[in-house]
Amino acid sequence: MSASVALSIEDAREQLLHISKRLVDVRLNRGTSGNASVRVDGADGEAGILITPSGMSVEQMSPADMVWMDFSARFSGERQPSSEWRFHLDIMKQRTDVRAVIHTHSLFATTLSTLHKEIPAFHYMVAVAGGDNIRCAPYAIFGSQALSEEVLQALEGRKACLMANHGMVVVGSSLDNAFDIAVEVETLAEQYLHAMQVGCPHILSSQEMLEVQEKFKGYSGWSK
Ligand code: 13P
Ligand code: ZN
Repeated sequence: MSASVALSIEDAREQLLHISKRLVDVRLNRGTSGNASVRVDGADGEAGILITPSGMSVEQMSPADMVWMDFSARFSGERQPSSEWRFHLDIMKQRTDVRAVIHTHSLFATTLSTLHKEIPAFHYMVAVAGGDNIRCAPYAIFGSQALSEEVLQALEGRKACLMANHGMVVVGSSLDNAFDIAVEVETLAEQYLHAMQVGCPHILSSQEMLEVQEKFKGYSGWSK
C-alpha cells in the first residue's frame, strides 16, 4: 500500500462523515450498521484514529460526532466510539501501511459470511484484496477482543476479509481507497453467490493470480 498524505483532524472529520454517507448511498450499509475509521497524525506529534460514533445513523451524524481515540484507546468527545473500536485500533497499530478501515453489513458479503465461506479466486478481481482469496474470520461476538484477533488473522497479507455471521472489513491507504475495495468485495460476493447457485465455479491457479497481482502494479486503479 503506498503512503498517503497525513490528514488534519478537521479534514478527517469531514471525510469520515462523507464516506459514511456514501456507504449508505450505495447500500453497503443501512441504519446504524457498519462503521469506519481513519488514521490521524496530530501536528503536535499526537497520533491516533478518528472513528464513527456508536449507534448513530448517518442522517444524525455531524463532523463533531466523530470520536478521537489515541493508540492506548483513550477517547475524547461527547460520543461513544463505535463498538468495533478494538479491531479498528488493533489494525491501525499492527498495519502501519493502513490509513483507513471500513466495516459493512452489506447484503452479499454478509450472506456469504453466514455460510462461513471465503471467496476463492473464482474471478481475477479477488486480487484487489491482496491475494488469491478473501478469508472469512471465524465468528466472535461484535465488539469483542476475540473478534479483533480473528479479524487481524484473516487480514494477514490482505486488504479485506469477511467476518462470520456478521459482514466484511476492508483496509486501505485512504478512506476512498478502502471504499473502492469494499464496493469490489461486495460485487465479488454477489457474483460468487450467483455462480454457486448454478454450479461450482472454476478457480484460478496461484500462478494466474500472481500474474494478476503483477499486472495490477501497472494499473492505476488498483496499484494504491
Ligand atoms: P456501532 O454503531 O457501534 O459502530 O456498531 C455497528 C456495527 O456494525 C457493530 O458491528
Ligand atoms: Zn457490524
